[in-house]
Parts: sequence; structure tokens; C-alpha cells
Amino acid sequence: MTREIALIRPGQDPSMTPLESMNRVESRARTYAATFEAVFEHGDGLKIRDSSGREFLDCLSCAGALPLGHNNPEVREAVLRFVSSGHVQQVLDLTTPAKIAFVEQLFAALPEKFAARAKIQFCSPSGSDAVEAAMKLARYATKRRPIIAFHGAYHGMTGGALAAMGNLVAKSGIGLDTCGIHFAPYPYRYRCPFGTDGTQTDELSASYLRTLLHDPDGGVPKPAAVIVEVVQGEGGCIPASDHWLRSVREMTRELEIPLIVDEVQSGFGRTGTMFAFERAGITPDIVVLSKALGGGYPLAVVVYDQSLDLWPRGMHVGTFRGNQIAMVAGKVTTEIILRDRLALQAAERGAQLRAGLRQIASLYPVFGDVRGRGLMLGAEIVKPGVGNSQKPADGDLAKSIQLAAFRNGLLIEAGGRNGAVIRLIPPLTITRGEVSEVLERLQSAVVAVLSRPRDHVAN
Ligand code: PMP
Repeated sequence: MTREIALIRPGQDPSMTPLESMNRVESRARTYAATFEAVFEHGDGLKIRDSSGREFLDCLSCAGALPLGHNNPEVREAVLRFVSSGHVQQVLDLTTPAKIAFVEQLFAALPEKFAARAKIQFCSPSGSDAVEAAMKLARYATKRRPIIAFHGAYHGMTGGALAAMGNLVAKSGIGLDTCGIHFAPYPYRYRCPFGTDGTQTDELSASYLRTLLHDPDGGVPKPAAVIVEVVQGEGGCIPASDHWLRSVREMTRELEIPLIVDEVQSGFGRTGTMFAFERAGITPDIVVLSKALGGGYPLAVVVYDQSLDLWPRGMHVGTFRGNQIAMVAGKVTTEIILRDRLALQAAERGAQLRAGLRQIASLYPVFGDVRGRGLMLGAEIVKPGVGNSQKPADGDLAKSIQLAAFRNGLLIEAGGRNGAVIRLIPPLTITRGEVSEVLERLQSAVVAVLSRPRDHVAN
């Protein structure tokens, strides 16, 4: 027994590299580690270096949790100062100076109209748990169970959040029931759920939702909430139009259905405004925040209208709701995003990156659609030459491009429906020159893939 354990411990078998040992012991469910086979050590802004000294441009940014990139000096300084200050570091949800400063800063960053009536609940430190809290709050406050989510949605991996996810792979084979979730079509113009060329997707999606909410014979009881991402991230980088979002807000308000906006990925400047919902000028009832919220450290909250604050004490608890380091890092990060107008910068660099992606798309028809908002951008990879519309998604090719980009020193996501969307979520601090470098590396990855037989795709 002892011998067996020793054999599988990373680094214990002298014939294996540490990476091979990890491949042997780590779960089959791991994701990025299976794709990017390297031991990553150092990080600085957009750049990340592995143990052999190879440098990569990191357009993952920890799925958006590092809006200032790796090891931002101001954040590091604040954290180091705090860690050596003797202040408490973990305190459940007790009140502390770090928490007060964090909440003040967050409320200053939220739109005034929303912040003026807002309450905040600290959750266990993952977006998933904050989504659980949001759904629980809405259900408790309305005394209703159904929740409407959207095709392609991603809200996290815990039971309730998972039930509200569109992707079927992550929830297959585990006997998860629907947990009261009903799905409505998201305005995915490139592959219009109503079969149009995309020009009517917004109106039809809104109209379908209106029917779902109003039809007394529609089969869906009045929901406790509608939960939406303004830009679907994991679902394939699909932005909803302002018009559609405003329609969703109008119909939910009219029927007194709380609107939950999941800003876990899109928040804090990522899409070109501080919060993605601001562009449409709507005010949600509940906002879910995590990732960038903690400036690279784990933190998650729900912020919601005070009228919903009906749940009793202790209804959503968790041990690690008081990570002070995350609050310190999150406060400084938010301050910097506002001070340096990084939302605006995300819009500008995003426009540059998008133009570059469009340029690549004009050369290589496997780029079926380039889309996104701010620095939350993606390209859907397709099998070209198959008719004019609805070109089949090509997840294998997207994966090959991702692997070739890795070999070229560029880390990008490959996800969305059928895994066919390559996604770029670089830090908001990415420079003009770095955007050009990312595009060059991506383009040469595309060239490399298209000029040779396909990689073997392993998942
Ligand atoms: N909501 C959205 C929109 C997300 O993108 C994610 C994570 N990608 C989550 C919720 C879940 O967050 P976490 O992984 O921290 O649980």
C-alpha cells in the first residue's frame, strides 16, 4: 500500500518527469492542464513562463480572474503589506477594516442607481456558489421555484448552477434532474435558434421568452427569476444586443420576476464598460460577481436590491467567505480599473484585437464568425465550403489551432458549442504591441494547422 502511494506521488518515480507524474495522478476531469503540457512558473502581466524558460502570451487570464495580468506590482504590494500587517486573514463573515474598504470600493464601482438600493452577501469563493445564492435568494423571496436560463448558459458546476447550464456534457450521467430550470433561446445570431439568417434573432428570442412568461397554457409556471449572461462566455463568446437585454428587463419587471445578471466573467471592465449590463442601461435585481472581483484571489458575492433581502440569517453560509487577502487585492484591482480607465482601454484594445481577428477571418474561411465585446472575444471555427449558411462547427480544428498556438507561445481557450470557439480573454492591461503579437502568433498557428495533416485530438 505504502509502496503504491509512493509510486504515484508526483516526482517519486525517477523514470518520470514531474509532468508525466502529474498526468498519471491527476483526474481525467482536469481541463487546461491536459491541453497545455508544461509546468508554469513565472508570470508578469500578459506573459507567463514555464519551468524550461519558454514564454507564452496568456490570453486565458485565469478565465478573466486576472484583469491586470499576472503579478501586478500594485496588487502584490498591497497583498504583501496586508499579509505582514498582523491583521486577521480569514474570519468567516466577520466585519474587518479590509472588508469595509472592499465593500465601499465595490459599491463605488457599481452604477449609482443600483448601489443606492443594494445589499451584499458574501458567498463561498466561487462564481458557482454565488449563483447558488442568487437563485436561492430569488426563490425564497418570491416563494416560487422555476428559473429561466438560456441555451448556451454557463453558471457554474455546483448542483443548482449546473442545472442552469446549457452544455449537456457537464451534467450527463449523474442523474441531475432539471431542478426547476427551464431554458429559453439566447440571441445567438450566427446560429439563429429560429433558423433565420440572424437578422431577426433578437426579436424572435424576445418574443419566445414573452410567450413563455405569459402563455397560461405554456407549461412553465411563473418563475422565481430569469438568469442571464450579457455576453455568454463559456457558451461561445456570444454577446446579447442591448435591445434584447432591455426587452428581457422590461418583461421581467412588468411581471415582477427578479432578473439575475451573471457578471462573473463579464464584470470589471472586461466588455468595455465596468459591468456588461451597463451598456444596455438596465438595472438588474441581482448581480453575481466573482473572478476579477478578488483581484486574482478567490472571492464571490451577490449584490441585490434591498426589496429581496427577506431571507433569514444563516440561509447562505460557508467557511471561506472572509478571505481578507482577496478583499485587499480586489479593492486595489477595482481601484486601478477605475483609475486607469481600463474598461475604456478594454474597448479600444478589444477593437484592435477584433479587427485583427476579422483580418485573419478574411484570409481563412475556417473562421466562421468573429464576435464578442471588449476583451472578451472569440472566433467560431467551421468547416468552410459547405453551403452559404450554417457551416458546421469544427471543434477538432479549433482544438488543433489551440494546440498550435500553444506551440507558438500563445495560450487561448477553445470552448463554446462543440468546442468550436477559440476565445481570447487577455488582461485589460494588454498593450497595443502585445495585441499585435497575439494576432501574429495566432495567425501563424492557423497557417501551421491548415498546412499540415490534423493533430490527433485528445481530450
Ligand atoms: N458564471 C459565469 C458566467 C462563469 O463564466 C463562470 C466560470 N467560468 C461561473 C459562473 C462559475 O464560476 P466558478 O468557476 O468560479 O465557480
